[in-house]
Order: sequence, then C-alpha cells, then structure tokens
Amino acid sequence: MGNSKYITDQFGRIHNYLRISLTERCNLRCTYCMPAEGIELSDKESLMSHEEVIAIAKTFVDLGVKKVRLTGGEPLIKKNIEKIVRELAALSINLGITTNGILLDNYFDLFKETGVKDINISLDTLSRESFNNITRRDYFERVMNNINLYEANGFNVKINNVIIKGLNDHEMLDFIELTKEKNIAIRFIEFMPFDGNNWDNKKVVSLKQITDAAEHKYSKENIIKLPSKKNGTAKNFQIKGYKGSFGVISTVSNPFCDSCNRIRLTANGRIKNCLFSSGETDLLSVYRKGENLKEAILEGIYNKKAVRGGMTEDVQFFDEKNYNQNRSMTAIGG
Ligand code: SAM
Ligand code: SF4
Repeated sequence: MGNSKYITDQFGRIHNYLRISLTERCNLRCTYCMPAEGIELSDKESLMSHEEVIAIAKTFVDLGVKKVRLTGGEPLIKKNIEKIVRELAALSINLGITTNGILLDNYFDLFKETGVKDINISLDTLSRESFNNITRRDYFERVMNNINLYEANGFNVKINNVIIKGLNDHEMLDFIELTKEKNIAIRFIEFMPFDGNNWDNKKVVSLKQITDAAEHKYSKENIIKLPSKKNGTAKNFQIKGYKGSFGVISTVSNPFCDSCNRIRLTANGRIKNCLFSSGETDLLSVYRKGENLKEAILEGIYNKKAVRGGMTEDVQFFDEKNYNQNRSMTAIGG
C-alpha cells in the first residue's frame, strides 16, 4: 500500500480528485449549512497556511491527483486566495472552485488569467426575499450579477441548488427554465444531514421527484438524458432546444459510492475519506513534523469503507440518528 503510485482504497477505487476546504469561515449563514451564530472555529494555529495548502496539494498531485476544487466555508475570503489560485493553476491539474458567488467579481481577472474555468456557484432561490431568509444575508443581486458575468464570458458555470421541501422546491422548474437562454448547468443537490442543520428525511426532494416534475412540465420526449461522466456525481438532463442543462446529485436517495474518486481535505489539514465517515487523518501534523506525508495519505484512503462511511442497508440512509456525529458542511468543505 505504502509504495503505490496512486491513491487507492482497499476496494481498488483510485482517488484522483481532491477537494480542499480553504477556510471554515463564511460570509453567509445558509440555514441548511450553518447555525445563525456561525460554527465554533478551529484556532488559527491549527489551520493550514497558504504555503501549507500548496505543499500538501502538491503531494497529492505527485500521487496522481488530476483535479482539485477549492471550497470551504467560503474559499474567496481566504487570505492569500490569489497566491493559492496562481500556484495551483500552474500545476498540471484541472482546478475549479465552489463559491457562494458574492466576491466573484473581484477575482474575475485572476480566473481569466490563470485559466480556471470551472466555477460552481451556490444559489437556492431566484427571489431576493427568499435568498435573505435562506442565507440570512442580503447579497442576492450581487450573486446574480456574478453568475451573469461569468456565464457571459464563457466560464463553465454550474449552479448548486440545495433543494428542500417546503423551502424552495416550488422554484425547481424556474431554475430549469433559466437554462433556456443561459449556458449554465443547474445541479439540484438533495438535502444532506449534518450536525445542527435540522435535517429530516421528509425535507429531502429525491431524484425521482425532480425528474417526475420535469417530465410533467416538459413531457418525457423533450427531456434528453445526457451521458454520465466518469466518476460524475450528477445525473444530467437537457430540455430539447435549451442552451444549458440540469442534473441531480442524489447523495441521499441514490448514492454513488461505487465510483467515488474524491478526497476531502479540511481547512485544518485533515482528510476525511468519505463525507459520512467520522474518522479523519491529520495530514497537517504529519507535514509539520516532517514525517512521511505520502504514506499518511495512502493509508488514510486505503481504509475507506465501501459505502457511506460504513453504513450498509438502504434504510439506514434515511435514518437521522446515523448522521448525528457528522460535522457541519462548512467545516468539512462541501
Ligand atoms: N461557500 C461555498 C458555497 O456555498 O458554494 C462553498 C462551500 S459549501 C459548504 C459547498 C456546497 O455544499 C454548497 O453548494 C452548498 O449548497 C452545499 N451544502 C451545504 N450544506 C448542505 C446540505 N446540508 N445538504 C446538501 N448540500 C449542502
Ligand atoms: Fe457558507 Fe456555502 Fe455554507 Fe452557505 S453553503 S453557509 S455559503 S459555506
């Protein structure tokens, strides 16, 4: 295991996609992600500096990682974000970012210059009032303007929409309509359970419910099923004649563990080998002590469980008590 060139788990899954959470902090307080008062933050000393982010990321690239996505918290509020983007973009990887979109206008030139094209922006509603309710902050217009700016300039814009029954599910078809004129990919994400987010399985809108609603409006023959991408998490569709597409990330109702190739590095330098696992490997301590980082990475991933951090039966996926231990999405890095 220690001599492997690739990061492979005990089931032979090769892990070549790294998601790095740059910070636990955020300039929004989305109700499904964070409590109003924010989360308890790790002390500064225990967080990766920008140099440490780059050194650790480079070790992953040496081990075959081909794709890196920056996330958080809100990655664009990380100190030295510009240096991080420039240095990572210079590696032979595909670099992308997942952001709430508020600060994207400030970094437009940076992303143009460095060739970072894959920009995922979170947006759960098309109404300003509802945006303020969901995020507890007043930035709707800025986010919309930034989505339009990046779409109009040829970036690959995906919109992440966490769909929650009774909160924003009535806007689902309006989001699909946006793809008529805009070349964007809407991705409906099933609401996932995390520490303190009041998850309830009755609030989950499933893949089937979403596709049923789309079929009801557009009729089956007008919905094109797009080919699945290797290791892709979304099932994607396009309405005939529309410029963009829409998809569903069905983590809850239909997990995609078999083809999982992703590793999550938290802002305090730990890898979580699965979004649902409670165990973590502390890479930052290994790095600071000058110990063998490659060995620690290979071992941490090797032990990954087959399905969702070790859950086995379908029925457990919908049971709240199985998720009580999971730290919030903003701490893990979604
Ligand atoms: N702040 C950035 C943003 O919002 O895009 C990046 C971090 S955020 C944690 C990453 C993604 O996780 C976002 O698209 C967000 O909507 C999603 N997310 C957060 N909590 C979630 C939950 N409980 N269920 C499903 N997705 C969630
Ligand atoms: Fe912040 Fe993103 Fe969580 Fe919303 S989803 S609170 S923007 S980290």
